[in-house]
Amino acid sequence: MSDRLTIETAAGEAILSRSGRSTLALSVRPDGALELKAPRGASLDSIQAKVKAKLRWIVRQRIRFHEMRRDRMPLRYESGATHTYLGRQYRLKITEAPVAAVRLKGAYLHVSGPTKASESVRALLEAWLRERARAQFTARVDKWKPWCQARNLPEPSARLLRMPKRWGSSHRNGRILLNPELVKAPAICVDYVIAHEICHLKHPHHGRAFFRLLGEVFPNWQNVKARLESSQ
Ligand SMILES: [Zn+2]
Repeated sequence: MSDRLTIETAAGEAILSRSGRSTLALSVRPDGALELKAPRGASLDSIQAKVKAKLRWIVRQRIRFHEMRRDRMPLRYESGATHTYLGRQYRLKITEAPVAAVRLKGAYLHVSGPTKASESVRALLEAWLRERARAQFTARVDKWKPWCQARNLPEPSARLLRMPKRWGSSHRNGRILLNPELVKAPAICVDYVIAHEICHLKHPHHGRAFFRLLGEVFPNWQNVKARLESSQ
């Protein structure tokens, strides 16, 4: 038999149970709750210290479960539903109008069209996102043109390409292929992916020289990469 109680820890509330076990076990439940299974004699202080030491791991687990929950939740195409553009969340506001249009206004994404049917809203929104992706990526890739020219590298140009498992790739002719889904990520993450692909124009492989150059042109890229991975 084990008695359970709720305690306050560095990672927020946790459910603590004690039993005849010899070490403390931590686990994060799919709903994000922290569970602690402690030996009967373990002091609260030692339990708290262990939680503190594992804080990063706990946060990562929670992010992972959060993503899994979100992945299972399909996007909705009705007024009030949330959609992401350049890392910001917008609520859909759908109206009927003879001419189809999509525009951002404050915290809202206004979609108007001849019908409010979700299939039609979805098509309008996807076309708009693709157009925004093209405009955003082109402007951001074009900023690298002088940099490439100064290094005798091919002139970079952005192209959209749906890729199931990657954000970007590059070709030695200067073509930078970018996943249109990337336009949902924060702008700094878009810039990171582009910088990464630009560095490949100089160094095709992920060798030491590649990462040295990436660190020069995009200091702190590791943090931005982690942000990109947790934002999706
Ligand atoms: Zn790469």
